[in-house]
Amino acid sequence: SSRRSSVIIIGAGVSGLSAAKLLIEKGVEDVVILEASDRIGGRIRKQEFGGLSVELGAGWIVGVGGEQLNPVWELAEKTNLRTCFSDYSNARFNIYDRSGNLIPSGLAADSYKKAVESAMEKLRELEADACYGGDVSKVPEPPSCGFSSTQKTPIELAIDFTLHDFEMAEVEPIATYNDFGEQEFLVADERGYEHLLYKMADDFLFTSEGKILDSRLSLNKVVRELKHSRDGVTVMTEDGCVYQANYVILSASIGVLQSNLISFSPPLPRWKTEAIEKLDVMVYTKIFLKFPHKFWPCGPGKEFFIYAHERRGYYTFWQHMENAYPGSNILVVTLTNGESKRVEAQTDEETVKEAMGVLRDMFGPNIPEATDILVPRWWNNRFQRGSYSNYPIISNHQVVRDIKAPVGCIFFTGEHTSEKYSGYVHGAYLTGIDTANALLEEMGRQEERSSENKTSL
Ligand code: FAD
Repeated sequence: SSRRSSVIIIGAGVSGLSAAKLLIEKGVEDVVILEASDRIGGRIRKQEFGGLSVELGAGWIVGVGGEQLNPVWELAEKTNLRTCFSDYSNARFNIYDRSGNLIPSGLAADSYKKAVESAMEKLRELEADACYGGDVSKVPEPPSCGFSSTQKTPIELAIDFTLHDFEMAEVEPIATYNDFGEQEFLVADERGYEHLLYKMADDFLFTSEGKILDSRLSLNKVVRELKHSRDGVTVMTEDGCVYQANYVILSASIGVLQSNLISFSPPLPRWKTEAIEKLDVMVYTKIFLKFPHKFWPCGPGKEFFIYAHERRGYYTFWQHMENAYPGSNILVVTLTNGESKRVEAQTDEETVKEAMGVLRDMFGPNIPEATDILVPRWWNNRFQRGSYSNYPIISNHQVVRDIKAPVGCIFFTGEHTSEKYSGYVHGAYLTGIDTANALLEEMGRQEERSSENKTSL
């Protein structure tokens, strides 16, 4: 037997929860939230490591200090989330070569300037090239991949990686920084970034002692099939449960949409599947390493450092956690895309070995062995299949509009449906609100139509 509700929300990440909150506040109380994993939060996720709670997914509140108030910053302030100001821009002055020499800051600054100029030049060329006619499929690879990496020195490669995988704001205007400000704050709170979500859930779901006990939220419910028609949707989960509703809000990531986890019948229309296929999925992996004591410099401007290797992205970008948690003796190295997938596929022992090799290059042979490692696997997580969406630099607005456009009674939400802030927590949060509003409007229109039908009878 199955119960029919007004709305089924698939996914209890930040976007699914912000959509649920708005719907319930607007009086649509019979919502059902189906979450595949055993927890809420999705890509906001803490884990105990080395005596601390570290963030496997989102770590920063990005876009603070500007004209508009970032809604996620607002939530953080309300809940007294502990945060730490981060300044990525120092990283470029802490570049080590394979012999452990720090690149002189003048040389580093010069290489950096050149890299920014060349990326901007590439971008202008793309923009000027009118023959693309806005069709992103014809736009060549973005500059990050367009460079011929063979001719680059390890320093240039390291800078290229840092610039394109971390600091695109130097090359092109980014709406997040323009609207909300250029500051970034690292969440360093034992309760985790996800504390914001529990606080949010507290406002509209029944909770007790920090646990959500509301029967409208069901965990471990993996949605596998979505039957939809004019009359509504039927949702089937892996454990054989059936749910019916008038509408569904689907917040699964772009990676999940590209996979075959959820089948649709009838299938999604071509314009939708094509738009979904066009989006790149970025894999971003923060590897945590614990040491018996610290052996890296810790003064001002030293939080981030870079390793220059002949392979682009090979354990390039490092951060120490001493600013956030003094005495924690934890280092974080960030890998992306191909390197992320490679490391996900190997054992953690192999990864420690590689990382230790890199650290010995930088800091000498006498540093202590890591005592623990944590390697998140976002790519191999079938409820994620990647870290976040990556729109082409010269983005065609039609792609994002198609990705977020509803198909009948299926509404789409999530980070990847954000026109301005895709890839961020605040982007996901705001799309939840947008999608819920669009659905409320549709429900209003539906009500009008049915009352017109009644009067004409
Ligand atoms: P999700 O959080 O993915 O929520 C979707 C939910 O749907 C998940 O809980 C999933 O389990 C569930 N689901 C999937 N398939 C099914 C199914 N078939 N049935 C039922 N449920 C399903 N953003 C920042 O602002 N700052 C950062 O510093 C930052 N760093 C990041 C670092 C990493 C490593 C990652 C992975 C992301 C980072 N982000 C960052 C991005 C940010 O985390 C995301 O944009 C945001 O959390 C996405 O929220 P969402 O609701 O769109 O998706």
